Amino acid sequence: MRLLFVTSEIFPLIKTGGLADVSGALPAALTAAGLDVQILLPAYRGILAQCESPQRLGALQAFHDIRCDIYRTTLPGTNIPLLLIDDLALYDRYGGPYHHPVYGDWQDNPLRFGLLSKVAAMLSVPNMLQPWQPDIVHCNDWQTGLTPYYLRQMGSQAKSIFSIHNLAFQGNFHADWRYRLTLNENDFQAEGYEFYGHLSFMKAGLYYADALSTVSPTYAKEIQTEQFGFGFQGLLQHRAQDLTGILNGIDTEVWDPAIDPYLPVNYDAFTLSRKNEVKQALQTELGLQPLVTAPLLGVVSRLTHQKGLDMLVEIAHELLASGCQLAVLGSGEAALEQQYLALMQQYPGQVAVTIGYNEPLSHRIMAGTDIFVMPSRFEPCGLNQMYGLRYGTIPVVANTGGLADSVQGGEITATGDLPPTMTGLVMAENNPSTLLVTLRQAIQLYANSGQWHQLQKQAMRQDVSWETSAKHYLDEYKKLLSS
Ligand code: ADP
Repeated sequence: MRLLFVTSEIFPLIKTGGLADVSGALPAALTAAGLDVQILLPAYRGILAQCESPQRLGALQAFHDIRCDIYRTTLPGTNIPLLLIDDLALYDRYGGPYHHPVYGDWQDNPLRFGLLSKVAAMLSVPNMLQPWQPDIVHCNDWQTGLTPYYLRQMGSQAKSIFSIHNLAFQGNFHADWRYRLTLNENDFQAEGYEFYGHLSFMKAGLYYADALSTVSPTYAKEIQTEQFGFGFQGLLQHRAQDLTGILNGIDTEVWDPAIDPYLPVNYDAFTLSRKNEVKQALQTELGLQPLVTAPLLGVVSRLTHQKGLDMLVEIAHELLASGCQLAVLGSGEAALEQQYLALMQQYPGQVAVTIGYNEPLSHRIMAGTDIFVMPSRFEPCGLNQMYGLRYGTIPVVANTGGLADSVQGGEITATGDLPPTMTGLVMAENNPSTLLVTLRQAIQLYANSGQWHQLQKQAMRQDVSWETSAKHYLDEYKKLLSS
């Protein structure tokens, strides 16, 4: 089975969030399961230079005025073919994959990701670049939403699956872009790519893909409701038969406390006392008081409304009164960043806040903290809670989406036993007071080192690898090909 995996970010080349981690790990797991996988990505600035001997396959005339070069290389650290779309005007610029460094979204994003979508389709019909054509095109998030449409427009034999990693980002643009992107006028309607008067990449993906998936079973149900559906709930209910939820795994080699090169000391479930050494080093690094017995809470996150971290600010004073410490790494909404910085000023030595994106520090926080806090308002899958499980850093999470599917809550029984399935704490409701109650429960548990070690071991034993998830994807692909 040949599969083209289309994505707008991939670890370790370019990452803004969970999609990059998924793109960096799932193709490898699928290759290990026997699939013949190629990956397609825009060649943002610096990407070609990071890859080993890229070979120019040729050029594609994607739109009447856009001719781009296609390079073939491999994803670093793997043998998986990686195809890169080289268009200097569209991708070779200083800034993020989606944003100008200062002025928000790139104004030509419809064209930049229209091109990604179109090239994916052009590679899925006989072409001059390579004899290889996919049976399945796996599209990810709105940036690839027009691919299923173009596949149909071009009469490709390939089947498409469209994965929703976050329904909140939809790629809705002024309707006039449809001309530039050569979309058929007749399809600019509710039964097509139109969404409330706009051209919607997300809508196109949801409407035209042969199959839909999202990154956890609970989120697959949630997005069919008004609360989580962002206006797409009707369409998703209509397509419920074609929609499946498959929980992400994590890259268990990149995220392994036993070999993690970013840690000062490595540890595993049998050498948990060394985790304390990582904690002490982290406290020193971040300017926290060197109190190894103080429970240390960690946050690594985008600082946005979705992640619910405003609730943590709200309860911070009550929480910190217990003497626990807090280490935050993140960036996002300016107001929230300011609130966290103010908290650090108010609690020197007790709260450490690092604004920015810092991969090595994120590993050290994951390993050096005791409790990982993730009170998201919605969370399609979430990866950090799974990193927490793997590092014996107990997740405290909201009862939503992939958090609910990956963290097993529980309570100490009347006889004082820890349920053997418990791997973290799950908030009964999603509000600040419940967050406070749940964090206090975690802190109380932490105080009982016997129970805490037991909980850490149970968390570290949980299977969070891609293997099982990759099998689910494989089943979906097989279903698609036989339909
Ligand atoms: P989302 O994709 O919604 O941002 P996920 O939990 O799915 O959330 O994935 C976030 C990924 O980005 C994780 O790998 C996390 O460690 C990483 N991350 C988020 N913020 C930062 C940061 N400030 N520094 C380093 N890594 C970060």
